[in-house]
Amino acid sequence: MRTVAEPFEAEAVAVAPADEPGIRVNGAPATLDAVQKADVRVDLLADDADGRGDGRRTRSFVVEHVLGPLGLCGVTAAEVTGIDDEWAFERPEHRFCYARGDDPACVVGHPAGLPNPAVVEGVREVGVVERAPPVRRSVAEPVTANTAGGEVTLRPRERGAGVRFEVSFRGEAFAAEVDPAGETAPELVDRVVGSRTPFLVDDPGEGVVHAVADLVSDVAVLGGFEDLVVEADLTGAYHGATVGAARRARERGVVVER
Ligand SMILES: [Zn+2]
Repeated sequence: MRTVAEPFEAEAVAVAPADEPGIRVNGAPATLDAVQKADVRVDLLADDADGRGDGRRTRSFVVEHVLGPLGLCGVTAAEVTGIDDEWAFERPEHRFCYARGDDPACVVGHPAGLPNPAVVEGVREVGVVERAPPVRRSVAEPVTANTAGGEVTLRPRERGAGVRFEVSFRGEAFAAEVDPAGETAPELVDRVVGSRTPFLVDDPGEGVVHAVADLVSDVAVLGGFEDLVVEADLTGAYHGATVGAARRARERGVVVER
């Protein structure tokens, strides 16, 4: 596992080192089992032991815009906490969160719809420490998930190769080589985390680059994969297909660890 060397605060979130493998967001593990919603965004639900002691299960909104940048930096273990204390009701996730009776800190997505570049800055500043030898997962055979928002296929790749994303989005295409162990080209990371969500900016050229962060979140971090070729043909609310492909691989028993 690789965690941050020291705690830091970024836009909307605080990030701290973790003692155990895995990323947690407001107490919810960043795993497929904790995904509560995956369409225009991804929400995670904490189990009862979220430490608040109020019997409520904390829901965190827009987690992909924190998990994407952490995954791009090779961080596989961290404690993420929301730090916003003011409502922004022009944001649908804030309205949803308010209606649920939660507080603004439950929304952990960057306010401008970016895969939080301040998280990348923070990780670079404090550094990453490796605390356990890495496990690497791939698939034994191709797996496809198809939804109204897109089609995503996961293909096997040799150990240590990393994840190659081949993404198309509304007529634009983009390919990215991502190393889940943190050796991704910094220029690529900067370009991806500087690209806004297609739900706020109607520019498919920017959207296809942004989608790489969402894919890193949903396939590499939530799905737990390190070596894959990911073909993604995306149109709209695509998190159902990205999370769905990782889920299908597990349901079909084709996840391989080596
Ligand atoms: Zn996104």
